[in-house]
Amino acid sequence: MKHKTIIEPFKIKSIEPISLSTEAEREAYLKEAHYNTFLLNSEHVIIDFLTDSGTSAMSAEQWAGIMKGDESYAGSRSWFAMKKVVEDLTGMEYILPTHQGRAAERIIYGYLGGKGKTFISNTHFDTTRANIEFSGAEAIDIPIAESSNFSSNYPFKGNIDTEKLKEVINTREAENIGAVIITVTNNSGGGQPVSLKNTKEVSELCKHHNILLVLDCCRVAENAYFIKHREPGFEHKTYEQIAREMFSLADGAVMSSKKDALVNMGGFLALRDKKIADACSNLLIITEGFATYGGLSGRDMEALAIGLKEVFEPHYLEYRIKSTSYLGEKLHEMGVPVVMPIGGHAVYVDAKKLYPQIPVHQYPGQALACELYLKGGIRTVEIGSVMFGKYDKTGKLIPAPMELVRLAIPRRVYTQSHIEYVIETFEEILKTKSSVYGYKIIEEAAFLRHFTAKFEQLLN
Ligand SMILES: *Cc1c(COP(=O)(O)O)cnc(C)c1O
Repeated sequence: MKHKTIIEPFKIKSIEPISLSTEAEREAYLKEAHYNTFLLNSEHVIIDFLTDSGTSAMSAEQWAGIMKGDESYAGSRSWFAMKKVVEDLTGMEYILPTHQGRAAERIIYGYLGGKGKTFISNTHFDTTRANIEFSGAEAIDIPIAESSNFSSNYPFKGNIDTEKLKEVINTREAENIGAVIITVTNNSGGGQPVSLKNTKEVSELCKHHNILLVLDCCRVAENAYFIKHREPGFEHKTYEQIAREMFSLADGAVMSSKKDALVNMGGFLALRDKKIADACSNLLIITEGFATYGGLSGRDMEALAIGLKEVFEPHYLEYRIKSTSYLGEKLHEMGVPVVMPIGGHAVYVDAKKLYPQIPVHQYPGQALACELYLKGGIRTVEIGSVMFGKYDKTGKLIPAPMELVRLAIPRRVYTQSHIEYVIETFEEILKTKSSVYGYKIIEEAAFLRHFTAKFEQLLN
């Protein structure tokens, strides 16, 4: 028979206790954390949906790899294992290991960036944007129009708007463009996938204008799942074949392996051009580590080599994507405004729509993140004007285009009953939504302010 329940395709070998708390206790914890979910103690969290980054459960195979890790400073066997897997997948000649994604970003965008340069992306992830802007360059997001229509079921809402891309290339001029970056899936844009057709069009434009195309491939396996099941012509290809085809269109790739390589720490930069690779390799050695470990332990590289293969396993990917959409679809049916269709690694709730009484300068997303923690001990993150808001010259907030709250699902960590608990919490969120107020920021940093900002609750 064909079962309709998609079970977790693994058994649990080792467990980690969750400490339960009362709502009154959480009220005190939240106050202590200045209403910023990043400042909470993880022991006070019941379901941690803050991020899917570095939070995966490793397999028995990966843990065995941890023991086998070769900690030699140079030429480690574990490095060669990682290098081979990354080379096979990306088809790129120069592989630089880094301790995580942003280290690779700082190296490549620091090298390509600087004053007067422009970077263009479907949506720059927060660390990507920060590294580009820190170099003095400008980062422009040009997702397709459908990406901001949360109720549209367009299958590839992560795509780049190619007409706008042509326009930006014309107005900024090709030689001033540091790179075009395709983020798969589009993390800050609802975890939506990018099609191979769109990637091909962008790649052709870049080639024509001699512009570097970089794939931010954190979730390339999840993106491949969507291509296989949504894009005509790819039904019979394997997920790895689809991913390889995507890499073949790019000149470089940046990966935070804390996502689709199923490890707790790791990343890499992959390049085809020797000149760029040599320059980046120098930067790597200055700040990350020697070229055969780049800030990673041998054991981390060993686990990464194994995880980057496991992630393409068809039963894993089916479970991964379908369990995320199970949560999202349930919330949608209950009347919670969520970004549709449901993305690969997370469910995004439209807080602006949920809390119409809270104006954007009082951060409706932050309010929902706080409510989820209070009501259920569920930790999430605001992806809206706290994360991406800016100030104009008079100090007035320039809000982000959307006010979302992301429920990022760690890989292979939570079971269906955890997810049912989250759904129940949302029933309460819906019941009490009209009595929720906004927040004001009382302390913040100049870059990536969401990590450390302190808030105060507004009472009317
Ligand atoms: C996580 C992430 C990064 C940054 O990686 P870190 O490992 O957190 O430094 C870059 N781009 C995207 C799309 C990401 O999701």
